[in-house]
Amino acid sequence: MAKPDRVVWHDVLSYLRNHHPDTCRQWFEEIDPVGIEGGVFLARVDQSVRQRYLQRQCAAQFTDALQAITGRLVSVRFLGPDDDALPASTNGTPAGANATAQAPHHAGGYRPGALVISPDYTFENFIIGPENRLAHAASVAISTTPARTYNPLFVHGGVGLGKTHLLQAVCLRLLARTPPPVIYYVSCEEFMTQFMDAVQAGQMSEFRHRFRDVDVLLIDDVHFLAKRERTQEEFFHTFNALYQNDKQIVLSSDAPPNEIPALEERLVSRFQSGLVVQLQPPCYDTRIQIVKQKAKIRGMEFGDDVAAYIAAKVTSNIRELEGAVVRVHMQHVADGLPIDLALARLALETGPATVKPEVTIANIIDAVINYYGVKLTDLQSKRRQKSIAHPRQVCMYLARRHTRFSLEEIGGYFGGRDHTTVMHAVKTIEKRRDADGDFGRVLEALEDRVRTPASGVVTTPGARPMAMATV
Ligand code: ADP
Ligand code: MG
Repeated sequence: MAKPDRVVWHDVLSYLRNHHPDTCRQWFEEIDPVGIEGGVFLARVDQSVRQRYLQRQCAAQFTDALQAITGRLVSVRFLGPDDDALPASTNGTPAGANATAQAPHHAGGYRPGALVISPDYTFENFIIGPENRLAHAASVAISTTPARTYNPLFVHGGVGLGKTHLLQAVCLRLLARTPPPVIYYVSCEEFMTQFMDAVQAGQMSEFRHRFRDVDVLLIDDVHFLAKRERTQEEFFHTFNALYQNDKQIVLSSDAPPNEIPALEERLVSRFQSGLVVQLQPPCYDTRIQIVKQKAKIRGMEFGDDVAAYIAAKVTSNIRELEGAVVRVHMQHVADGLPIDLALARLALETGPATVKPEVTIANIIDAVINYYGVKLTDLQSKRRQKSIAHPRQVCMYLARRHTRFSLEEIGGYFGGRDHTTVMHAVKTIEKRRDADGDFGRVLEALEDRVRTPASGVVTTPGARPMAMATV
């Protein structure tokens, strides 16, 4: 396996900072590039939480960066601390994800179906202010001694005020224990979906086992229980089973228990039986600290004037405060200017900065597959029938115009063809584009779609970065 050059990795990280500022985190510096094997770039991290987060939330962005920097059609896979040897096969699910999915029920750590936890939602990254002090202290207490202090812990507050952050901080603190307790962190919607699936499939005992055989159950956004009678009934039994066995329950909601519409009285009283704490919107001083902290986890330092300006301008909730930090970052990347008050003003007063996204082969394939209704395997096959050969030529044309891949690489990707075939395809499409106005417009729409994948000229069932793994 080829050991990656440190310089290449450095360039990948700097490409990410410039093209995907929203994704970038300072701890990406700690990722260890392992090497390329069979078209898959392997990188290692020291925590399962990070591995899972990267694989689930950042794989597409890393794939894009790796392709742009190496000029090769590689995909990416993240290895965790449990993947001591390299996976025997480079096909299929990532080794770490696999190990997680097959973990026995009694093992601590993640469970299948759990939400992805952000490695940044730690207690250390949570700014304490008068608005959240109690909720923070209670969350720390239950992660130190689960089921001994407040049970259940019920955290409520408006959108973007830190409920999910606190629940995940509890998870992270618990997961850091050795051995970690069995925790299950799901959204209320996930609880409902799993419940409905279990009812339909006649698998209620598996469902109960999954939710009741844990040390700590955390359910985010329980206000979704409103008016769901059957789910409420099941939830009530889940709650009792855990409570009676001294297991910790943590719930979050946008309203206090007695204000959740049509919540059964017995659930209201159960939810109120532990500690109910509220998160209030942050005051100016807290907002300043949060802005600085959000900049820091993205590897930036904001001066006092910049932080104060943002904190004064964005007052509604913390998610928007974070959005403002990202906009300043994007403006900084787009203009290449230092982060000062003038730049922050520009970013927040003239709308979001536009960082031109790099076109990827995955964007092209998505657009073409959707428009022509062909399959990726057809595009990569040797088949010559017109209904396949034409979209394949369109792919080659778009790849040639919008990516930096060579004729050889493009030909190789689309069915192992040589560079003259790609040149011929580009010419054929150009000729038709100039002669046929309708086709010209289709091509324009596809080019728009490829440049701004979210614009939706043709709807897409989702990016498929792992398709690259077939190269
Ligand atoms: P909610 O679940 O209440 O809608 P989140 O927990 O998703 O809100 O928080 C929204 C954003 O605000 C997240 O990025 C989170 O990290 C951040 N945030 C909220 N409260 C704080 C805090 N006290 N310190 C730092 N960041 C915070
Ligand atoms: Mg939330």
